[in-house]
Amino acid sequence: MPELIKVAKFGGTSMADAAAMRRCAAIVNSDQDKKIVVVSATSGTTNLLTRLCTPLVSSDRVRLLSEISEKHLNICNELKSPQSVRPDIEKLLEELKWRVHETKSVTLQQKDEILSFGELLSSRIFTQILKESSSEASRVSWLDARDVIITDHAHTQAEPDIELIEKRAEEKLTPRFPEGRFVTQGFIASTENGVTTTLGRGGSDYSAALFAEAINADVLEIWTDVTAVYTTDPRIVLDARPITEISFDEAAELSVFGAKVLHPATMVPAIRKNIRVYVGSSIHPEKPGTWIMKDTRSKPVIRAISLRRSQTLVTVHSLDMLHRHGFLAKLFEVLSRNKISVDLVTTSEVSVSLTLDTDINSPGKDALTDDVLSELKSFCKVEVEKNLSLIALVGNNLHATAGLSGPVFGALQNVNIRLICHGASSHNLCFLVEGESAETVVRILHKQFIK
Ligand code: ASP
Ligand code: MG
Repeated sequence: MPELIKVAKFGGTSMADAAAMRRCAAIVNSDQDKKIVVVSATSGTTNLLTRLCTPLVSSDRVRLLSEISEKHLNICNELKSPQSVRPDIEKLLEELKWRVHETKSVTLQQKDEILSFGELLSSRIFTQILKESSSEASRVSWLDARDVIITDHAHTQAEPDIELIEKRAEEKLTPRFPEGRFVTQGFIASTENGVTTTLGRGGSDYSAALFAEAINADVLEIWTDVTAVYTTDPRIVLDARPITEISFDEAAELSVFGAKVLHPATMVPAIRKNIRVYVGSSIHPEKPGTWIMKDTRSKPVIRAISLRRSQTLVTVHSLDMLHRHGFLAKLFEVLSRNKISVDLVTTSEVSVSLTLDTDINSPGKDALTDDVLSELKSFCKVEVEKNLSLIALVGNNLHATAGLSGPVFGALQNVNIRLICHGASSHNLCFLVEGESAETVVRILHKQFIK
């Protein structure tokens, strides 16, 4: 087999402690391929760092700092040669302490600096663990992701600059790549001038995909705490099955509609460069994971079922719509100006129904504020229904499969279906049901169409 170029990403739970890190090192060492290894902070550390960015009494600050220190120093103590990394870790911990003492209220730029310590610490330790478990320790080196992943200045939610990243990868990585293996950080990045930024919570998957794109990797591996992408949430359907292979298009519908295996932006770079993505478990690497790729061998009509809760349905009515134009433009202008993201839309002659994205970063915060509502009410009648769930059947050719809706909706005879979207995508059929009935609906459909 010719040598492949791979990017392997390990999430927070895979970095939980020394034993977990050793399991990850064994996965990295299981073949001779060239690799960039992208790691998250150790599990829970980004949350602790986030708390350090809020106003705290000094005893709480001290407690959080010592929790972070202890966790990382404990892992160091379990290494074969703790002294080879401990001084670096102590230095980082000192610097972190100094940074959180520096100011009372933290700017977003300072927040990014503070958050970056999670991945800086874990990647230093993991580099040493990988060296200790490799037959050729000299092949392994640490890489500062901020030298390669360049973004804009939007601190805490920065946007990558693909062209610059490619250029940096060519300068900093390509010449050294034949040497072997790099360990680098997920989530953290930098502006062109070297100011630290981050890609948003859970952004390590995205970092890994950006590295894969920049070095034209053959494979992007995402090692996580689930064994695979499942046909539906196994907490809802106990006999949900791991999916062996799924296309980019289907997987995109899944992440839009609720299956949170990958950070939603992760697939974009992989699609741009047609890089195969593998999702597997770092705890049970021997169990089959899921391949996500452009073309799959199998193309079932229904491959998976996803569920997204807490949906709001907004229905607007206007008699002005009858045989007129411009109403939809006006409606969407209001939503767009207020940065409200719409998922599904259906229209009739005099009304429009839409589902809204709830802001997952601020639970309880409703995108549909009173101000937006009164603006809408100035030109149409508005009805709002909450506590709905969006269910999506994801697969292939759903729009062109004769006789599909009969059995699907037949199975749901006793369920009140509030809205149906079918036909816009060949890869999904989705509908809204009341929140309380959602899990039952998923179970019925899984049993009938997948199991
Ligand atoms: N450490 C970051 C977080 O917890 C990024 C990641 O793990 O993907 O959000
Ligand atoms: Mg994660």
